[in-house]
This record gives sequence, structure tokens and C-alpha cells, in this order.
Amino acid sequence: MNIYLIIVLAAIIGGWMLQTTGAVLGLGRLGAKLPAEFEGSMNEECYARSQKYAAAGMKLNIIQDTISTGAFLGFLLLGGFGWADAVSRGAGGRIAEWAGIATSGTGGTSGTGSEIIIGLCFFALLMLLSGVLSLPFSIWHTFVHEARFGFNKTTPATFVADRIKGFLLTVIIGGPLAAGVLWLLLWLGAEAWLPVWGLVTVISLLLTFLAPRYLLPLFNTFTPLPDGSLRNAIQVYVERQGYRISGLFAVDGSRRSAKVNAYFTGLGKERRIALFDTLMGKLDEEEVVAVVAHEVGHCKLGHVPVMMIISVARTGFMLWLLSFFLTEPQLFAAFGVHNVSAHAGLVFFSLLFTPVSLLTGMGFFVLTRRNEYAADAFAAKTTGRPDVLRTALRKLASENLSNLTPHPLQVALHYTHPPLVQRLQALEAMSISVNSQ
Ligand SMILES: [Zn+2]
Repeated sequence: MNIYLIIVLAAIIGGWMLQTTGAVLGLGRLGAKLPAEFEGSMNEECYARSQKYAAAGMKLNIIQDTISTGAFLGFLLLGGFGWADAVSRGAGGRIAEWAGIATSGTGGTSGTGSEIIIGLCFFALLMLLSGVLSLPFSIWHTFVHEARFGFNKTTPATFVADRIKGFLLTVIIGGPLAAGVLWLLLWLGAEAWLPVWGLVTVISLLLTFLAPRYLLPLFNTFTPLPDGSLRNAIQVYVERQGYRISGLFAVDGSRRSAKVNAYFTGLGKERRIALFDTLMGKLDEEEVVAVVAHEVGHCKLGHVPVMMIISVARTGFMLWLLSFFLTEPQLFAAFGVHNVSAHAGLVFFSLLFTPVSLLTGMGFFVLTRRNEYAADAFAAKTTGRPDVLRTALRKLASENLSNLTPHPLQVALHYTHPPLVQRLQALEAMSISVNSQ
């Protein structure tokens, strides 16, 4: 049996087992008594609801994971990739002919143009198939699961518009990027990894820089924080920290969900702190300042550029490895494809890379969780009120029905933020040290 096929099958099945084990262990943790950190701030009824919400979410994840893993295995083992390659060659060849681009068919000369079109057809077909498979789950998630717990505010029109915008962005940004990558691979072969890395890095830097001004407003309305006592209270704080108030926005999160949130995004002059409109009504002024202070912490501590550097390094490593496998006939044979091509090589390598992605992804989450502790500590120090941030976090937990008792395996696999109980404990340790000074 083909060694690559064994690795891919083991990775896919192993990944599914790991996710399912995490969810099952997580379900087992529900029902524990209310963590001491929440006594007096979350009532039993709210806690019971948060556990029901967590349980329903985990069960939904198990079902979705199982169905999509089964579908993927079926597709792979029944020769789906060979079929997709043949369909793309047919369709891409016709498009190239229609567009007057030379085909490599009989003459065997300059087929780069048609190879790129065939590759784009191949990516589009695979994305279409995975989109069709995941669509019912996102519909169920938004309109049944979230709605059942009173979170969903997304109308069917917004849902459809989001999908259309996402599709257009993929075509407009992803299409030319994929074409550029394919062109480099076809031109330079295994040597292409370095220029491909450069191209991907430039595009992702540009996207991180431009997203706050040009992409995120396609989905949400950002308005400068209105004048008033809240703005004044925040202004006093952010000016002391040397942050520009012009980077502070209220965002209409309530267009999609009743959940309460805030985030920091962007690079350089385009950095933005976005406070969900849902946050304003739920937290008092001091607590909103504490949340802003946490986001200013992400900015001041350079979390976005540091994470970008790490992810650029990870991409470089992956592309360098890819250069060894790109034309390995056995890798193509594992997927039932006989024509060695750049487009299929990219997809097959990324599947072969699954175990490494899983590990680097978990490593990445370790870092994002460390950043959250650091931003909490920054907020506690600069406001001098760790207790206020703690109250704010407790309120957010109640409003969002956060799972207070996740299993460590779930945290390792999925959590970009540390579990709330641990964040509260870290802040409590800070208050003690502040008070004893
Ligand atoms: Zn944060």
C-alpha cells in the first residue's frame, strides 16, 4: 500500500478521533458545580443554560466532524480526486480554447496558460464541493443552534449576502493569488518555494494592513465612538497610553448576534479597536474602559506583528517542504491521480501536511492564549483595577453563555483564549500582588 495514502488516512482519521475525544471529554465535564470564581456573579439558572448551550454545540461539532470526515474519506477512496482532475482538465481545456490560450494537448508546447486555468478549475471544484457540504451545517448553526439560545440576529438576507460577499472576495483576491502561485510553480518547479513564499507574504501583509479599512466594513458598519461620558472616560485612558482615539470604533455586532465582544485588528496606521454595540449596554463605563485597556494591550505589546511573523515563518517551512513532494508520483498515485500537476500537488501536499498543521495550529493557540494573559495583565496594570476587568469578564461569560469548564484537550485544540476561570485566577493573583505592594 502507498505510504502517502497511509499517512493521509491516519492523519484524517486520527484528527477526527482527537476532535471527537475532545468533545466527549468536554461533555463529561459539564455538570460540575459552578466554579468558585463565578459564585455570586452567575446564577444557577444561567450556569445551567451555559452548560446546555455548550453541550448542544459539542454535539453539533461531533455530528459535523463525523459526516465531513466520512464524506472526505469516501471521496478520496472512491477516486474523487482523479475525477475532479479529469473534470477540471476538460473544463479548463475548453475555457483555454475559448479564450485563445495555447493548450498543451497535442503539440506539448507552452501550456502554462491552460495549466493555470485547469488548476483554478480544480481549486474551484474542490471548494464548491466542500462549500456544499458545509452549508447545511452553517444554516443549522445560525438559524437553529444560535437561535435556540437567543443569540441569532442574522436574517436570511444577511446570511445570503455574507456568503455572496465571501465568495466574491475569494474570487477577487484568492483567484489571482492562486494563479500567481501556479504560474511560479509551473515556471520554476521545486525552486519556486522561495518566490511563492514572498508572494504569499506580501499579499497577507497587505490584507492585514488593508482589512480594517476596506474588507471588514463590507460586513459591518464601524462608527467612531459617539461623544459622551463613555467616550470621555475612554479618551482619558487611551491618551495616557498614547493610543489614538481615532482607532477606536463601535461595530454593529448586533446585526448578526446578541453576543458581546471586542477585538483589536490591523497593522501600522490602520490599527483598530472595535467594540461591539452589544457591549455598551451590558457593561458599565469603568468595565468598558477595562475591555478597551485589554485591546490597547494587544496593540502596545505588538501581538499582531509577532503573530504575523510566526505565521509567515510557518508558511515558509510548509512551502520549503512542499518543494520535495511537488513532483513525487507516489503522492499523486495515493490520491488516484496519474497526471503530475502543480495544482493537484499543492492540494495533496496540504493534506499530507495535516498532522504538522494540527501541531503548529496547537502551538499557535498556545501563543494566542499567552497573549490574552499578557493583555489582561497590561489592562490590570495600566488601569490599576484588576477587579474591574474581572467583573467585566464575568459579565461577558454570563452574556455569552461561555463554557466555564472546558476540558484541557478542547482548550489545546480550539481555544484562542484561555478558559475564563484561569484568566480570572491570573487577575486575582495580580490584585493580591497589587494590594500587598
Ligand atoms: Zn484579547
